Parts: sequence; C-alpha cells; structure tokens
Amino acid sequence: MVLAQLGGSISRAIQQMSNATIIDEKVLNECLNEITRALLQADVQFKLVREMQTNIKKIVNLDDLAAGHNKRRIIQQAIFNELCKMLDPGKPSFTPKKGKPSVIMFVGLQGSGKTTTCTKYAYYHQKKGWKPALVCADTFRAGAFDQLKQNATKAKIPFYGSYTESDPVRIAVEGVETFKKENCDLIIVDTSGRHKQEAALFEEMRQVSEATNPDLVIFVMDSSIGQAAFDQAQAFKQSVSVGAVIVTKMDGHAKGGGALSAVAATKSPVIFIGTGEHMDEFEVFDVKPFVSRLLGMGDWSGFMDKIHEVVPMDQQPELLQKLSEGNFTLRIMYEQFQNILKMGPIGQVFSMLPGFSSELMPKGREKESQAKIKRYMTMMDSMTNEGKQLLFMCFAFINNLMSWIVQILSS
Ligand code: GDP
Repeated sequence: MVLAQLGGSISRAIQQMSNATIIDEKVLNECLNEITRALLQADVQFKLVREMQTNIKKIVNLDDLAAGHNKRRIIQQAIFNELCKMLDPGKPSFTPKKGKPSVIMFVGLQGSGKTTTCTKYAYYHQKKGWKPALVCADTFRAGAFDQLKQNATKAKIPFYGSYTESDPVRIAVEGVETFKKENCDLIIVDTSGRHKQEAALFEEMRQVSEATNPDLVIFVMDSSIGQAAFDQAQAFKQSVSVGAVIVTKMDGHAKGGGALSAVAATKSPVIFIGTGEHMDEFEVFDVKPFVSRLLGMGDWSGFMDKIHEVVPMDQQPELLQKLSEGNFTLRIMYEQFQNILKMGPIGQVFSMLPGFSSELMPKGREKESQAKIKRYMTMMDSMTNEGKQLLFMCFAFINNLMSWIVQILSS
C-alpha cells in the first residue's frame, strides 16, 4: 500500500527522535518537520498539518516537563492522538444488523470503483455469516449489469438486474422487493455514476433513494483525487443523505492520506478502504487501529478478527489450548497454512502485527510468500508416512527447543 510509505516516513521520524541522546526543542522540531513533509507529500491539506504541528507543540511543552518524564512516550502519544484527530469525523456510521433486512445504496462517480466495491462489501459480510444480495440499478453505463453479474457469480452472491429495462428506479424497487421476500439481510443497490457531478446524476440518485428508502447511503470515492475529496464529498452529501464513505484504490496513490483527512473534514465516517482490485483487498477502516498500523504499532483487534473469520468457531478453543500447551503438531501446522491462505493478502495480515508495516512486504513478494506456503503444503501432501514422521520429529525437536529457550528467558 502506498500509504505504507507515509507510515514508514512518520515512524522513521519518531524513531530518529527516540534515538537522540537528549530530546530538546531542536530534536522535536526536526521530527515534526519530517512528519509535516510526509503528510504534505500525501496531499494532506496544509491547514490541517499546521494545526497538528501547533497542537503537538502545545501538548509537549519541553520546558514544563520535569526531569524523569518520559518525553519520547509523551511525544509519540501526542503524534498518535493528533493523527487520529485528523482522521476522525467525530460521527459514527449506521451499522446494519444481521438478520434484519437493510437496504444499502452505493453512489459515486463513474470509475471510482463503485461496482467493484459493492461486491467487496457483500463478500466481506457474506464471510461473516450475512445473507447479502446485489441489485444493479445502473442503466446508464453499457455493461454495468454484466460486470455486477460476473462479480456476484464469482462470489456466489444472488443478484438482480435487467438488460432491457431502462428505468433505474423500477429496477431498484423490484430488486429490493425480491430480496426482502428471500429474507436477505443486506440488500445492496448499485446506482449509476457519470463522468462528472452533473445534475442528471444527482436527480437519478435522489429518485432511487426516495423509492427504495435506504438505511444507509455509501459514497464511493477514488483516493487519487487527494484533498479534492472534500468538495466531492460535500457535493454528494448535499444531494442525498450520505451516511458513510468508502475510499478506493488506496494501494496505488500517494494522495490517500489527503483523501482520508479531507473526507473526515466533511464529518463523514470512512468505513472501509479498497486496497486492490481483488475481492478480499478490502479493509475495515477504524481510525485508531488504522493509525496504529500506519505507525507500525500493529492492530491486534484486526488480527483477531481475521483469525475468527478463518478458524471455525468450534475449533478456536481447541487450537488455543493446544498452542498454549506447546502441542503444535504437523497437522495443526498444515491447517494453519490453509488458514493463512484464507486470511487474504499476507501483507495486510502482516501489517496488523506490532513492529511490522505493509512497507516490509512489497506486492510482488506477497505472491512469492503465498506460493511458498502452497509449495510446503504440496510437499506435505506428497510425503510418505515415513517422510511425514521424520518431518514431524524434526518439527517436535524444534518445538521443544523453542519452548526450552522461552522457559530459560522467562525464568
Ligand atoms: P465504477 O465505474 O465506479 O463502478 O468502477 P468499477 O467498479 O468498474 O472500477 C473501476 C476500476 O477500478 C476497475 O478496473 C476496478 O478493478 C478498479 N478498482 C476498484 N477498486 C479498486 C481498488 O481498491 N484498488 C485498485 N487498484 N483498483 C480498484
């Protein structure tokens, strides 16, 4: 993710400050200047960056801090808090409830990634046990229905649309009715986008919204527009009641930080970010864990969420019990390889661990690592019982050695 470069620059600035023998005004200024440079490069608005710098200096008054105060920690905490403040819209989004039908309408300009994001959103919820469905109310763009149909079929999600009907309102209403009867709890309506914010687009959005009465309107926006996101989000908010935003293409644009902070400034909560073209390159956006990951401090709640997603509920206590007893067998290793592959992009998972950043795992390397895991699994599949026994013995030996080292270190 390009955003990882921003996180990398900020963490390096903090690290350099931490390495200094004495933390004085000069060291603090150097650190803040580095962070300012990185944020401006990510297209964060100058006013926001200056505000952040002034606030940190106010909080970290080096003259007032008595000796013995941990200045490093105080500065780090102030940077963390200010970055969170910059990205926090101060308002939560509506959260649909599983088992109760909710209509979610997607709006945005053409090419922003709206149709792809509708499927990603449906797929994400399907993995968590929801019953989603997709409705294509985009009658403006030729091929829109085919694209949605193809994505939905791939993800095994029911869909509704028409090749002949030209009235988007009619299709939207029919689709929503159909899926309500089928007890779907997340009915996602994809609307048409245009090249620019024109009156016809806004009028159509308003009509579809009036007819389907959505529980939530999600505005999908391409991150490459950076801080111009402020005006675009405001324009959409004035036409329909946008309740949440999804920022796409965070994998490819250096301006992602600017887009996120600009959306927050419109007081609209960003709920997910798109980090690639694939279905699982989609992440929940939660300010504190996001900043934590950005600074290489990890995101345990996100990591645990991934584990809960891929390890079947009934097997979780057993796995934890075995791991805590040091009882890590070859079969468990094989199952965990399978789980890692199910977790999605390795870089995404990696950046959730403290001390790591997705900068450490460039996109090309991710495929390589995934291929390596598959190779190990194939090797394990093709082994004779004797081979497996030998490998298991080596593995048990390493396992014992590790627990022995841990015991020595912790005694
Ligand atoms: P729509 O016109 O707004 O419905 O946009 P589409 O869903 O057709 O997406 C436009 C292009 O953006 C397609 O090539 C998608 O694969 C691509 N796209 C969507 N989301 C992302 C993302 O998060 N990252 C990247 N790299 N590409 C994306």
